[in-house]
Amino acid sequence: MVGILQDKDRIFLNIYGVHDWGLEGAKKRGAWNGTADILAQTPEWICDQIKASGLRGRGGAGFPTGLKWTFMPKQESERPHYLVVNADESEPGACKDRDILRNDPHLLIEGCLIACRAIRAHTAYIYVRGEYVHERERLLAAIKQAYDAKLIGPGNIHGWDCDVRVTHGGGAYICGDETALMESLEGKKGQPRLKPPFPAGAGIYGAPTTINNVESIAVVGTILRRGATWFAGFGTEKSTGTKLFAASGHINKPAVVEEAVGIPIRQLIEEHFGGVRGGWKNLKAVIPGGISVRMIPAAECDEAVMTYEDLQARGSGLGTGTMIVMDKDADLVKAIARAAYFYKHESCGQCTPCREGTGWMWRVMERMVTGEAEMSEIDLLLDVASQVEGHTICGLGDAAAWPIQGLFRHFRHEVEDRINLYRAGKPHVQGATLQ
Ligand code: NAD
Ligand code: SF4
Repeated sequence: MVGILQDKDRIFLNIYGVHDWGLEGAKKRGAWNGTADILAQTPEWICDQIKASGLRGRGGAGFPTGLKWTFMPKQESERPHYLVVNADESEPGACKDRDILRNDPHLLIEGCLIACRAIRAHTAYIYVRGEYVHERERLLAAIKQAYDAKLIGPGNIHGWDCDVRVTHGGGAYICGDETALMESLEGKKGQPRLKPPFPAGAGIYGAPTTINNVESIAVVGTILRRGATWFAGFGTEKSTGTKLFAASGHINKPAVVEEAVGIPIRQLIEEHFGGVRGGWKNLKAVIPGGISVRMIPAAECDEAVMTYEDLQARGSGLGTGTMIVMDKDADLVKAIARAAYFYKHESCGQCTPCREGTGWMWRVMERMVTGEAEMSEIDLLLDVASQVEGHTICGLGDAAAWPIQGLFRHFRHEVEDRINLYRAGKPHVQGATLQ
């Protein structure tokens, strides 16, 4: 057990939207305080502070944010530099960035200005998920407030010219991949690009670009106000700071909450999410970071903590920290078959292992739900999953393979039981998962 975070150590003080989301409310909570002093520092100083804070990308990959900023050219050149904020939150289970967009948008706008200074950019684009219509409207209203108060824009009171523009997707999950997002932002079909080159070398319009998640940018103002050591004082050496966590599924109180990284899964579920439906003993498995990471079984959830290193050591990952909790009534095979359908549906079709593999894995998973599959197909499925993993242009291939691998690593017997029952004339479930 660790101590629960106090409000004085929280960055997002309006995550439930009970206070004023607008400029006055944001200022009272600390946003836009001392911003000019921060911007008076050099880009190198800002990058060094963010590096010292240990902040890692909150979109799922956990890449060090300050380090990413240092990949940008060290001088302003004839090619403009760009900041792009990835607000295309589309991972099943992920639901934290939308609360920043609608309830604390000024932290994000202030963060854009500071990050632009750090990477010598004068334009930030915020790419909002298409379905987040109300969030986009709220963000636009907050940006207007910031322009009207001359906090951003040309000749603003902070001394670093910076425009913040909002654009949005049309509902394709793949546009959350940073390179597909760039294609979409340029007005093209959202298909991932090969990396390298990474965005800092050739991003939007071929110009140096940094792409960060909403939460990663929204926390930088507070980190720089309170100091890198304050932020690094939470969590572990490799997983610092506070973070938004969320839970959905078989818990009594689905919510989004800010906690110190490193909080045990059990404590997070019991103290913030009302506990597992039917009590802790009724827990079956948790997918800790959005559907794309591998699940961990209940037996491990007593010990597991929400850090990058602990969950990676368990074959899973922290991802976005938005967990999916499943109790003993959950049909895990059906749930993972549904996830397989999602990835098949969202594949852009550019590369063969993903285009063909996701559809193939989904069809086999459907037959495993009913038990109609052959026993030998389990190893075949795992073999195909391992050949999709790591052999595709973007991370969607990995994301399609990992939930399946997690299921069979811990619950292979459930599929085997279904196949045996089907052969014995007692099918577990009639009909397909999807109509
Ligand atoms: P990644 O590890 O390839 O890259 C992470 C970031 O680091 C990128 O910005 C990348 O450009 C940069 N980077 C990595 N190596 C670099 C290098 N050598 N030089 C310069 N820059 C480098 O991961 P990714 O494909 O960007 O993201 C995958 C993650 O996104 C997964 O963990 C998945 O869970 C998550 N995801 C989240 C959502 C959501 O809704 N939040 C949706 C889909 C996927
Ligand atoms: Fe498209 Fe899938 Fe290849 Fe990504 S892995 S580029 S989604 S086909």
